[in-house]
Amino acid sequence: MDSPSSEYLSTKQLEEQIRLEEIRLLYGGTPFSFSASVVITLIIYNVVLGHVVSETNLNIWLFIMLSVMFVRSIDSYLFSKQDIQQQLNSSCRTRFFIGTGIAGTCWGLLPWLGFSPEIEYISFILVCMVGVIAGSLSTLSFRWETQALFLLPACILLISRLLIEDQSFFNATSFVLIVFVFFSLTAGKKIFDNTQQNIRLRLEAYNRERAIELLHQKQALHIQSTPLAIIEFDLELTITEWNNAAEKIFGYTHKEALNDNVMRLILPRENEAEQLGELLLNYKSISGKVIENKTKSGEVIFCEWYITTLTDDKKEIVGMAAMALDVTDKKQNETAIIKSKEEAEKANQAKSDFLSSMSHELRTPLNAILGFTQLLTYEKALTEKQQSHISEISNAGNLLLELVNQILDLARIEKGHLQLSMEKVTLVDCFNECSSMISPLAEKRHLSLNINTETSGYVIADYTRLKQVMLNLLSNAIKYNTENGSVSLKVLQKENGIVRICIIDTGTGISTEMLNEIFQPFNRLNAASTIEGTGIGLSISKQLVEMMNGEIGVSSKLNEGSEFWVELTGSLNIMTAIEKESKLPAASQAPDENTASSHKILVAEDNPTNQTLILSQLTTLGYTADMVKNGQEALNKMVNTKYDLLLTDCNMPLVDGYKLAKTIRERGNKLLPIIAITADAFPEKKAECLKVGMNEQITKPIDLNTLKNTLEKYLN
Ligand code: ADP
Repeated sequence: MDSPSSEYLSTKQLEEQIRLEEIRLLYGGTPFSFSASVVITLIIYNVVLGHVVSETNLNIWLFIMLSVMFVRSIDSYLFSKQDIQQQLNSSCRTRFFIGTGIAGTCWGLLPWLGFSPEIEYISFILVCMVGVIAGSLSTLSFRWETQALFLLPACILLISRLLIEDQSFFNATSFVLIVFVFFSLTAGKKIFDNTQQNIRLRLEAYNRERAIELLHQKQALHIQSTPLAIIEFDLELTITEWNNAAEKIFGYTHKEALNDNVMRLILPRENEAEQLGELLLNYKSISGKVIENKTKSGEVIFCEWYITTLTDDKKEIVGMAAMALDVTDKKQNETAIIKSKEEAEKANQAKSDFLSSMSHELRTPLNAILGFTQLLTYEKALTEKQQSHISEISNAGNLLLELVNQILDLARIEKGHLQLSMEKVTLVDCFNECSSMISPLAEKRHLSLNINTETSGYVIADYTRLKQVMLNLLSNAIKYNTENGSVSLKVLQKENGIVRICIIDTGTGISTEMLNEIFQPFNRLNAASTIEGTGIGLSISKQLVEMMNGEIGVSSKLNEGSEFWVELTGSLNIMTAIEKESKLPAASQAPDENTASSHKILVAEDNPTNQTLILSQLTTLGYTADMVKNGQEALNKMVNTKYDLLLTDCNMPLVDGYKLAKTIRERGNKLLPIIAITADAFPEKKAECLKVGMNEQITKPIDLNTLKNTLEKYLN
């Protein structure tokens, strides 16, 4: 840490102060030394007048002496009138040095100009000069240079005058003078060093004191004006410091706080203050802990505390210093935010639950609508108009089913209930399946569809969900395309084992501003109302791709087309075993009515409409079936009749589909194919069915072809 003095004065400022002090000391001695010099000059003049060789020379000396003293006195006076900066900046120091040198020379002229052949007068002059020189030294020794400047000319001139006479007394005196000069200068140097050191120490001490004083002033100001409560207390928890903010926050005045043991009052819980004290005595500081406190008026507030121990020079704890910030408002806001977040989460959960159950419930009536519509298409006696109406019902029903499925997906993703089964997905399989599903749509819109079904390679993904994403992107590329446009699917190998699947169209394109919103749910941008859609396909696709640890993106130019891409971990170069065993379902064969009719099927379904539908569907496919309303009836029926296959709804009264399958397997019938009909298409539903011993699960609304293929798979 910097010393306090350095906080107050920089080194440069300190040096300036020292210089100023020195120069003031030099000039400070001038009034006395000048007056003394004038008096001594006059005394010498009067004593030796009448005995000197040349009185004119003595008068000249007197004139020079008085002139020099006069000029130096004026200089000294001018110096005293200057301000600090001028005193520092002006050449007064140089002037003083020159003046001192001239004064020394003048005294050195005395033995020359005031020479007397009488030995006693020479001795008198000698004594006076030594006295003057010795006296001057006390004022000049503050600076080593001034001392030398005065002493050397005066003594050299004096000694040289004495040596000219070549008298043994003068020679001896000269020798003594030389010794005197040497010791004077040596002593002067020491005095000079000490004086400098003293000045420095004194100024440093002064500055340090000033800095400490300032620090105290600043601290006092901070302590009293800060919004932080600053509190100090001893080991008995008695308060020794209590600032304005503490008064404001806790309501106790400074006087009350110092007299009472307020720490126990503001920490209202039992033994809390003592526990705090104990904690601190173990040298554990408290930093930013929010503690519940009580004010004088009994109000509960929350403060953020910072407490540390104060130790003496032996590192023994002598007390504690604490800062507390009133964070009641912040705490209340936080609680309100947490509460509203919880409420929002609850509302969101309720929304997801509602969407989930609503879309689930919608599937049951949709099963009837789509199922019967599909059956009607097999009727031969329908007029063209009736067939067109049926086609409209079928289209609308399928759109509704798509919407229900998407909403169900969205709700499940939001609830975190969507589970993926990640595997190596052979691209060629996925692309082939997408191609065959999407081609009719492209043909209808007269678009050329270029899907490279020769692609080798794989990506790590959930097969069904990847197909869902691809179909969404491909159907969008077709829907939002222009007449005779094209849609292509390309794959690229990127660095770090990433495969990019691109779906490029030559359609309407998307403006740059709208690209930012494209993955928001229920945002159809500016899609024409004539184009069917729900606005959630891309949002689901994005979430699905991200769940598969991939990325999805788009680049587009208005009226030129768009390129949607999906990046997933994978490789295009490695031919793997799984590529060879295609996932594509084997081509379905037409039902053989003779074989079909010879099989006996039992159907367990409680919903009357669904009963009629499934019976009609089975009849259309050439099968005969018995119908029961629940699992219990099915078990009873199977006692007397041997069935080739059981189709069962899962949710039924008395004995549901799961229990029914479990009981059949437990009773030892391992071979009977049991097919579940569920309203949910979720993988976990399928897993649940397989777990209780069912062979397969088909989802409502039951598609006639799916039903046909499944029955054939298990009956043939
Ligand atoms: P939608 O059911 O409306 O197709 P999506 O979530 O799949 O819902 O797409 C959201 C919107 O993004 C669409 O309504 C459409 O405006 C725009 N969009 C999607 N794909 C394309 C595309 N290939 N070309 C132009 N616009 C597209």
